[in-house]
Amino acid sequence: MIKQTHTVLKNVFGYDNFRPLQEEVIDRTIAGKDSFVLMPTGGGKSICFQIPALILDGITIVVSPLISLMKDQVQALKSNGIKADFFNSSISIEEENDVVNRAINGDLQLLYLSPEKLIAVSNTWLKKLNINLVAIDEAHCVSMWGHDFRPEYTQLKVFRNSLPLVPFMALTATADKSARKDIEEQLGLNKSKLFISSFDRKNLSIEIRGQVQKKKKLQEIINFIDRRKNESGIIYCLSRKNTEEVADYLKKEGHSVAFYHAGMNFEERENTQTDFINDDTKIIVATIAFGMGIDKSNVRFVIHYNLPKNIEGYYQEIGRAGRDGLPSETVLYYNMRDFVLYSQFADNGANSTMQKEKLNRMLQFTEAKSCRRKILLSYFGEHLAENCGNCDVCDNPPKDFDGTILAQKALSGIARMKEKDGITMLINLLRGSNNADIHSKQYFNLKTYGIGKDVSFFDWRDYVIQMANQGLIEIMYAESSALKITPIGWQILKGEKTIRLTKPLRPKEKNKKQKVTKTTHEDEINNGLFSELKKIRYAIAKEENMPAYIIFNDKSLKLMASKLPTTENEFLAISGVGMNKMEKYGEEFMDVIRKFKSVAKPRKIGTTIKTFNLYQEGLNPSEIAEKRNLSITTIFSHLSQLYSEGKKVDIEQYINTINKVREVFNKLGRKIELKPIYDKLNEEVSYSEIRISITLILKNE
Ligand code: ADP
Ligand code: ZN
Repeated sequence: MIKQTHTVLKNVFGYDNFRPLQEEVIDRTIAGKDSFVLMPTGGGKSICFQIPALILDGITIVVSPLISLMKDQVQALKSNGIKADFFNSSISIEEENDVVNRAINGDLQLLYLSPEKLIAVSNTWLKKLNINLVAIDEAHCVSMWGHDFRPEYTQLKVFRNSLPLVPFMALTATADKSARKDIEEQLGLNKSKLFISSFDRKNLSIEIRGQVQKKKKLQEIINFIDRRKNESGIIYCLSRKNTEEVADYLKKEGHSVAFYHAGMNFEERENTQTDFINDDTKIIVATIAFGMGIDKSNVRFVIHYNLPKNIEGYYQEIGRAGRDGLPSETVLYYNMRDFVLYSQFADNGANSTMQKEKLNRMLQFTEAKSCRRKILLSYFGEHLAENCGNCDVCDNPPKDFDGTILAQKALSGIARMKEKDGITMLINLLRGSNNADIHSKQYFNLKTYGIGKDVSFFDWRDYVIQMANQGLIEIMYAESSALKITPIGWQILKGEKTIRLTKPLRPKEKNKKQKVTKTTHEDEINNGLFSELKKIRYAIAKEENMPAYIIFNDKSLKLMASKLPTTENEFLAISGVGMNKMEKYGEEFMDVIRKFKSVAKPRKIGTTIKTFNLYQEGLNPSEIAEKRNLSITTIFSHLSQLYSEGKKVDIEQYINTINKVREVFNKLGRKIELKPIYDKLNEEVSYSEIRISITLILKNE
């Protein structure tokens, strides 16, 4: 027997299978127990509480600190025909009243609240609700150990205690072991079960580029995005100034780009974000403040212009790419300068030791010469058996060699400079450079002056950093980054130990093979059709004032472009198409597909022509539908298409609703927006009928 949860997954969300752990979490929740869900960004956490919300009687409360994300999620739910709404500081008193009324009247299945609002209303109208589940999103915010502590979250325990029999679910994408325990305690979870899904995001490629000078970095970024025309991406920068500079630069090169940072006012930020979500701006250059509150599924790349502060943040940021599961790329640029700057920040901030420790791990990760994904996942406590094959190291494995002599040269240079200078001076000394600093310190008298001439500056830098990573030297950030030799370093210098180094990778524009995880039928995708489908999606999104990817994500469109569905059943089989979306948008998308097919295969009689022939034989639409094994809406859309092409089709007789639509259409100022008309007609006339009616009304003027 197919379980009810599966039916909901398919009919409402349009997906065929659960992702790992989703089903277990859902079953446990329906059984009334608490859960702790730890899944990466894009891992599919939402469905874990959304499906129980639809199955259990009553209303599910979702606590989330991210106001813009709430709106997004609610829109996405509504587009699937689910009754959801949100309650936070962004809505007016009238809207508040309306939401409260619907919640109390049992007319909402999910209600999203910010923690402050929840606390404010927990003793008033919230008490009247039949709450079936409480989901606490971004649960790490309750822990002071986390990186995003929010004091309001600590009051949620009182709420929990007031509902001892209701299942609670905590969800987050980041929490190490100690944070996890803390979160459970702080939220008062009761014998909760921990569900950790793999943090591996196989569809994200990982590339790291060290020590690239600014000019070159910008040029590389331009080349990168030139090759990805019309694709969405995020570029993260360290400073506000940087974001503006980089955005400016890209704009001059003709790219659709905007910057985003905390120094902008609320409205500017909202607008920038909305344009990005709606695909009106393709690229955002932002400080890390951007992205927390968005759920855009078709972000195709994330570039870090500077070193991230810690691995958690980095992983979350790259995780904003490829939520739809399609291959997406991430590139990280870093510089020692970023590192030094952050170390100084950390010195002045709270939790200084821990922050510096995390920063060090970040640097070690960037400098490492083994599979990137292995390192990342092991940081999160997961161990990959094989190298990933989708990172720069796997693409181009480094060769190692006995580096003892090289290391000794560098160490002896450091010793002779009395451990007082930094990396640049050391390299200048080793390479026998003639510059002013060397002169003023009279370093040309040192024995090591010029002993490393045969190695380039770039390579030396790489070797010295490898030495630091292997613990031979330490960079003293508090002493103008002077290099100090560690006990292991002294052993090497004295010849008591050897060391292996790897040849630095020459950064060059790789011509990357497409070896990324293949999506189904990827090679069969009709790209022309894919862009046509994107166009219609964009038009509908504008019309309905919602983000394009909420209508269908890129993955669904790609599947449409490869499987070419033209019947309701075929269309429903596309992943991401549920009943509601089929009803609302199916016809329009299938029309595009049909047109594409009729052009692509001119010799085959077009499907509309077949309908036309039967129509001329005197069959009525439902007879045609039956004969052709198509839905009646499809036949109507054929007839209206034929009609608009000038064929003799008396379509008006079939649509008794046209007069009703005309009346409302006129009343509402003749705006071509379907939703208001649909609402005004008490949801009694389907979207496709409204659309056909409007076509006719306009045509007959
Ligand atoms: P998270 O909240 O963990 O960051 P989401 O819940 O937003 O992730 O899910 C990420 C994407 O994956 C969404 O587009 C969602 O619709 C999709 N998704 C979730 N579960 C499934 C599934 N079982 N099959 C296919 N897609 C899914
Ligand atoms: Zn790898």
